[in-house]
Amino acid sequence: MKCEECGKDTLLLIIIPKQQADGKLITLVCLECAETSGFYCTVHDLPHLGFVDGSSACTLCIDEQVTIIGEQVGERLREAISPLPNASSLRAQLMEWAEEVGSLTQEPINICLGRAVITLAQRRKTTPKQIIQEVKKTQSINQVLPPAYQE
Ligand SMILES: [Zn+2]
Ligand SMILES: [Zn+2]
Repeated sequence: MKCEECGKDTLLLIIIPKQQADGKLITLVCLECAETSGFYCTVHDLPHLGFVDGSSACTLCIDEQVTIIGEQVGERLREAISPLPNASSLRAQLMEWAEEVGSLTQEPINICLGRAVITLAQRRKTTPKQIIQEVKKTQSINQVLPPAYQE
């Protein structure tokens, strides 16, 4: 089997969520190409989960961060919103989503909010702090929420 990136013959092909020029949503690559692609987690030895916008993240990295700082990040997000002029509409938008997700995952609301921020941070290869700064600056939480909950 041939690696779709470097063309090398390999016994082990790894599926990474990298979109190709012909529109295919995945690429089959050798381990070396996977590790340098940005679509593979070298900590967990796992391909990333892909998102519709072409970004990707390791679900285990997300879970680990959520366990450690999820609640705190959720709390920070709510704190960041409260002084904004449109706080009440943002809070309503956020809660509508968090309650729905929370009822599915059985997780506390702060954890749900934290997970959303952490996931976006991982996809953008930045920190939860940066994402929260952006929420403050843009006075919008659209980027944190799935498309169906954006306003
Ligand atoms: Zn390769
Ligand atoms: Zn990982």
